[in-house]
Amino acid sequence: MKLQKFTLSTKREGFYNITAQVRQAVKESGIQDGACAIFCPHTTAGITINENADPDVVTDMLFGLSKAYPDRPEFRHMEGNSSAHLKASAMGSSATVLIENGSLVLGTWQGIYFCEFDGPRTRSYYVKVME
Ligand code: ZN
Repeated sequence: MKLQKFTLSTKREGFYNITAQVRQAVKESGIQDGACAIFCPHTTAGITINENADPDVVTDMLFGLSKAYPDRPEFRHMEGNSSAHLKASAMGSSATVLIENGSLVLGTWQGIYFCEFDGPRTRSYYVKVME
């Protein structure tokens, strides 16, 4: 199936649940058994899979990432957003989800998230469904 591109408008920082969009891409592909790759083409944003039941989890993840990767005066990158680059690499730039009987194989509490660390911006991500 053709590569699909999605866009979203983000705030300063945030986790955006994109599970419904990915699920729709899988449905439209008609593929029953395969895999789905979700890729983020940015260096200060990422893709991760984590809990979608309690919204406090992603709030805590943002808090924890800011504690783990604070802005530091020693950073040399002129753009001044090294903290966002670190957080993006910690989350990773892609996820792969298996497809069985036309559905994403996700745990009950799992959702797919686009992670913004240096917004607000218009961002994009790609979804490729494979047999
Ligand atoms: Zn930068």
